[in-house]
Amino acid sequence: MAKLIELRNVYKIYSEGLESEVRALDGVSLTIEKGEFVAIIGTNGSGKSTLAKHFNVLLTPTSGTFEVCGMRTDDPDNIWKIRQHVGMVFQNPDNQIVAAVVEEDVAFGPENLGVPSDEIKTRVSDALRRVNMTIYAKHGPHLLSGGQKQRVAIAGILAMQCDCIVLDEPTAMLDPVGRKEVMDTLHQLHDEGITIIIITHFMEEAVQADRVVVVDRAELKMDGAPRDVFTHVKELKAMGLDVPVAAELAERLRQKGLDLPDSIITEEELGDALCQLS
Ligand code: ADP
Ligand code: MG
Repeated sequence: MAKLIELRNVYKIYSEGLESEVRALDGVSLTIEKGEFVAIIGTNGSGKSTLAKHFNVLLTPTSGTFEVCGMRTDDPDNIWKIRQHVGMVFQNPDNQIVAAVVEEDVAFGPENLGVPSDEIKTRVSDALRRVNMTIYAKHGPHLLSGGQKQRVAIAGILAMQCDCIVLDEPTAMLDPVGRKEVMDTLHQLHDEGITIIIITHFMEEAVQADRVVVVDRAELKMDGAPRDVFTHVKELKAMGLDVPVAAELAERLRQKGLDLPDSIITEEELGDALCQLS
């Protein structure tokens, strides 16, 4: 696999030198390969959004190096090239829509890049198809559900032909149906080869990733497959984090003396393990 993102010893300090100084990233090193599906978890204020904003150069490090596709983010010449690789989706679906019609909204990015109008049409219809929103192309975005709005935001990034999407708690304001729509879309795009980096406080979403990165008080504390991370129930709880319901329940049942494997993180696995007992 090819390297997409590489951070070496990144520090981000807000209000440096002032009394209100905050160290939001404290020596973070991390490599993300093309095609990965990474979930970033951590309690409020741990530095997740600060990290996310570095991926498409909304922020640059106070020190250390941050590279996207081999381009350093602190070189101003690289900003627009990097933003053609990495797109961002934020938490609030209503703050991201700029046009009065869905297809115009999706066209906004490529229009700003000066893409010819024929090609924009192709890109927009392709992007809407990939997020399963074709039938809403002519709709007003204000009539859409939160999950549909987030998928329009994702389509806007696809229309820019980005190969990486970073989403900062994209499902936090959605109902369970909207959350599932967005997660299903992300998995489908991942299958198509798009790199997905999602920040979430829903552990059931993080379990679906290939890799889970845990941020705690500005530092990267764990990094591994969901099964490696979520079986550390005690350590995660000590950081104030939840674990998937199945991992938690399995841990409690183990404490009660049930002989369950340490590897359980999904409800299906817990169900299977309980059936084997009886
Ligand atoms: P998270 O997304 O994990 O909740 P953030 O990255 O938003 O964490 O914040 C990390 C820390 O940096 C917090 O202490 C927060 O108050 C602080 N912070 C975030 N943005 C700014 C800013 N623009 N100016 C000063 N402090 C900030
Ligand atoms: Mg945040």
